[in-house]
Amino acid sequence: TPLMRQYAAVKQQHPDALLFFRLGDFYELFFEDARVAARELGITLTSRDRERAVPMCGVPFHAAEAHIARLLRSGFRIAICEQMEDPRATKKIVRREVTRVLSPGTAADRALPPGDNNYLAALHLTEKGGRGGTAVPVAALALLDLSTGEFRASEWTGPDAAAQCADALGNSGATEVLLPAVNPLLAQEDPALRALERVRTRTSLDSWVFTPDYAVPLLERQLGARSLEGFGLAGHMAAAVAAGAVLHYAQNTQGTALAHIDSLCFLEASDHLQLDQVSVRNLELVEPLFRSGGAEATLAYTLDCCRTPMGKRLLRAAILRPLASPAPIRARYGAVGELVGRLIAREELRGALDGVLDLERLLSRVALEHAGPRDLLALASSLRVLPEVDRALASLACTSWTELRARLAAQGEPLAALATAIATKLVPVPPATLAEGGVIAAGVHAELDELRALSGDGRSAIAAIEARERERTGIGSLKVRFTSVFGYYLEITRSNLRHVPPDYERKQTLVNAERFTTPELKELEHRVLTAQERSVEIERELFAGLRGTVLAEAVRIRESSAVLAEIDLLANFAHLAAGRKWSEPRLVEDSGCVLEAAGARHPVIEAMLERAGTERFTPNDVYLQSEESSILLITGPNMGGKSTYLRQAALLVILAQMGSFVPAASMRFSLADRVYTRIGASDNVAHGRSTFMVEMTETATILNTATARSLVLLDEMGRGTSTFDGLALAWATLEHLHNTVGARTLFATHYHELTMLAGQLPRLRNARVSVREAPGGIVFLHTIEPGAANKSYGIDVARLAGVPQRVLARAREVLRAHERAERHELPAELSPGAGAAEPVQLTMFTPLSQRIVDRIEAVDANALTPMQALTLLSELQDELRAGKALA
Ligand code: ATP
Repeated sequence: TPLMRQYAAVKQQHPDALLFFRLGDFYELFFEDARVAARELGITLTSRDRERAVPMCGVPFHAAEAHIARLLRSGFRIAICEQMEDPRATKKIVRREVTRVLSPGTAADRALPPGDNNYLAALHLTEKGGRGGTAVPVAALALLDLSTGEFRASEWTGPDAAAQCADALGNSGATEVLLPAVNPLLAQEDPALRALERVRTRTSLDSWVFTPDYAVPLLERQLGARSLEGFGLAGHMAAAVAAGAVLHYAQNTQGTALAHIDSLCFLEASDHLQLDQVSVRNLELVEPLFRSGGAEATLAYTLDCCRTPMGKRLLRAAILRPLASPAPIRARYGAVGELVGRLIAREELRGALDGVLDLERLLSRVALEHAGPRDLLALASSLRVLPEVDRALASLACTSWTELRARLAAQGEPLAALATAIATKLVPVPPATLAEGGVIAAGVHAELDELRALSGDGRSAIAAIEARERERTGIGSLKVRFTSVFGYYLEITRSNLRHVPPDYERKQTLVNAERFTTPELKELEHRVLTAQERSVEIERELFAGLRGTVLAEAVRIRESSAVLAEIDLLANFAHLAAGRKWSEPRLVEDSGCVLEAAGARHPVIEAMLERAGTERFTPNDVYLQSEESSILLITGPNMGGKSTYLRQAALLVILAQMGSFVPAASMRFSLADRVYTRIGASDNVAHGRSTFMVEMTETATILNTATARSLVLLDEMGRGTSTFDGLALAWATLEHLHNTVGARTLFATHYHELTMLAGQLPRLRNARVSVREAPGGIVFLHTIEPGAANKSYGIDVARLAGVPQRVLARAREVLRAHERAERHELPAELSPGAGAAEPVQLTMFTPLSQRIVDRIEAVDANALTPMQALTLLSELQDELRAGKALA
């Protein structure tokens, strides 16, 4: 049929998208698209009547948004094909065109969670000529959130540029990434680009899109700027190219002017504390490590008492990109400090923020032409809250607050005028869409008022006809009804047909009733419908004008939104500090690097314990100082709290560099440039790499890129391989961190042998988690104290975990034999275990005894003089004694 031919032609242009094909009041999907949509949305798969072979399914157009949002969340691309002319106005087949193409990265619907961003990313890898003609890798990332208008780009240069760029991409949570169809640098299978695997949708664009000649003019046009220098992009062509690609794709898929995208922010990597993807995951900053953990396990959840969606999104961004320069951090401390002690001012401010809805998203809905009348009213009501926020800020004196207040006030009048314009032009409770009219208030437009009066009169005349005709015919059930296809008609049930007067004209026959019209009804119908049509048209025009007025103030709305987000964030920090007894950290800028905290707590676990009401979190101290104790080596039983202690240190630094107060009685710290973590098993096994390989890759990154300003956390390094290899690697890693890198390091281990390093590395200190041995078993005290642990308590922990008594008893036997062997003879013999016939040979060596064995083995006894043999013997004895003393 012609219709299916039209469909096929459109579908051919969008083979990779689900085609939503408008047919009257429905969007229909056909063939494979229909099967996919029916499965994903749980709707019925049918087939077209005349072409029974064609599978199809459909959704009503007014309910499409939710269905589309669901498909986008599942990673599908969707093309929306609309009817481009009124079906009533044409005899031929209606012209249809694809007006928008939606993909996960461009979703800007109401179903997006308020506190999250939805980023579309573009990645650009290139090279630039270095000194002496060698090419230096350059990587750039651009991110655009169409739902808020946020647009930013970053660039990295040097050997690990791609890795850092991949980290930023992974941390952004982007739902779609754009890549050039051909890029020889990308094809190199750089392991850093594994981050790409985490992004659900990858879209390739023609390579010419990723060129400066195309990108720069495109950006300049969109941003209304003569040059990109003002956006900090001078000398960062790779970042501009990535940004250009994002913009190109957004413009081509949306079919609107994207008036809300009016600035591009270039972020310098060094402006922020760098957190790689591994650390973000391990520290559970925004996502729980295990799905089962639930969002409560994350720092973002624990910190979020923000009152506005913009504040929530800024908080997330602040967690992922803490600050790295002293001035803005101190400015935040100042603002938080003032508000901590001012309960009433704080509550007034937070209360005022409650009235602010999602300004950014409302504005973007207007720009993307998705906004309905209720969205504009929501915008107006939020703008009307600004004076209230201003009043709440009036009593605050510190510079950060007065500056924020001034920035907000600078937008005040034009926005107040805009709010008034919206509120006076729209009715107070409008319908959700413009389709039926009734949106514009009375008194706004003279012709509209007249038309309404006319159609109103017409309607009451129609009601009068109904009453009169009932009386005339004596048919009590006679009704005047309306449908958009048949207009107005009199409906009479079959049983009453004999009473129908001769002047009625038959219009339509149904199973149980007949529909009639009269000349009088026809005349009225014409009057009402034309008036109605015309008034809806006028309402559309007026509404479009109002949208234009809003967009004219886009810059002011976005600036207010940014200020409100910052206010919300700072008020949130103050709220946390006051409610949870957090204190202001002291940022020191001496030459050495320090991390010193007394009575520190892990903010997330403390909050979780508090909610559960079971036990209290035990505060701990931490002291790291690059000149005297740069490495803390922590030993102690499983479940003792080592991992918690490590993570806690990292969270303190992250919080402090976000400008927040911290969960500690006091804290002194120097700025960190990066936080590295190597904690626990990773989930990468699914990606085809063994646990040990993952561990070593992460360790390699740390050893290659950490600096003296970094904070390094290593938890149970070496666990993934044989005891000796693991111990040897851990040993060498500690030496390298101590002698070469000098980073502040916390190292938790079960290798007690490593504690001997304290005798050799002057800046390494031992610490242990303490336990109390009680008659009923061990009790974890969760306190960290100086010194090395002398016992593992592994078997005690196994007992707590419910390992059967027989197994525990046997384990004790094996352990005792092993300890005897270590002390006296090698190898040890052990009486046979249950079920074993032969004595068990134990060849478990400690590294110390192994070293001695190795030395003896290496000696050629025939070549030794008696004197040399004696010296060797005495050396071996010394080594043995020294080892025992340290242990
Ligand atoms: P393993 O060696 O088995 O990994 P671990 O020593 O790293 O154990 P953690 O995982 O840090 O131990 O902590 C074990 C449990 O103790 C956790 O459930 C944690 O909530 C609790 N815990 C840790 N530190 C404290 C503390 N300071 N106060 C209260 N509870 C704590």
